Amino acid sequence: MRFYQLGTQIFQFFQSLFRSLPSVKMTTTRAQTKEMWRTADAVCFDVDSTVIQNEGIDELAAFVGAGDKVSELTKKAMGGGMTFREALSIRLKIIRPSINQLTDFINHRPPALTPGISTLVSLLHQRGVDVYLISGGFRELIEPVAKILNIPNDNLFCNRIKFYYDGDYAGFDEHQPTSESGGKGRVINLLKSKYDYKKLVMIGDGATDMEASPPADAFIGFGGNVQRPAVKKGAPWFIENFQELINELDGTAEDNSDDMES
Ligand SMILES: [Mg+2]
Repeated sequence: MRFYQLGTQIFQFFQSLFRSLPSVKMTTTRAQTKEMWRTADAVCFDVDSTVIQNEGIDELAAFVGAGDKVSELTKKAMGGGMTFREALSIRLKIIRPSINQLTDFINHRPPALTPGISTLVSLLHQRGVDVYLISGGFRELIEPVAKILNIPNDNLFCNRIKFYYDGDYAGFDEHQPTSESGGKGRVINLLKSKYDYKKLVMIGDGATDMEASPPADAFIGFGGNVQRPAVKKGAPWFIENFQELINELDGTAEDNSDDMES
């Protein structure tokens, strides 16, 4: 009988422990995220469907005539069962961009920046905030974006395509942290330990962006180009327009009564 009571007590103890877990896991509220945004010392942006309006790899695929095949694979990859690196590798093997094709693509398709991003980044720069681009996309496609936004190349963390000496496609650099699942979080950890950032904010449309917080101190979900249901649901602060972030910085944001909801 006593043994039975002890068993019940142990069971209840573990039950209460598990009940308390969600509150441990819960990180920041919307109000806390806004406060973090206003006082951030570093801001990291995802690129595809965040800073630019489309997905660079899909655009490149369409340019070389492999659009349908690659977008089918992208959907499959997003459905799970494939690591990020496998998905990247399999799509690039279809595209096989040569250095000439890549140059042609860059010259013919200037990056389609998301409205408001230029104003937002220059506002952050004026305030002395360090701005980074962290992307699973390719440096060759992201450098032109960074140039328009006055973000130094040292502040880009993305993948690199490799070429043979004759310019043919030779694979991609598998040593870049952004070429593997969880890579964005690793880059943020690195930045935080190198520069001792106290308030680093990650902004992006995707689940991999949301997963990078923590280590990012806050995450802002961006739905201005595409809206991912999991991100819309999971992000403490989900925005549909960069103007909302600009308003929050220059003090013109309306005082939302729903700030207390989360
Ligand atoms: Mg994205």
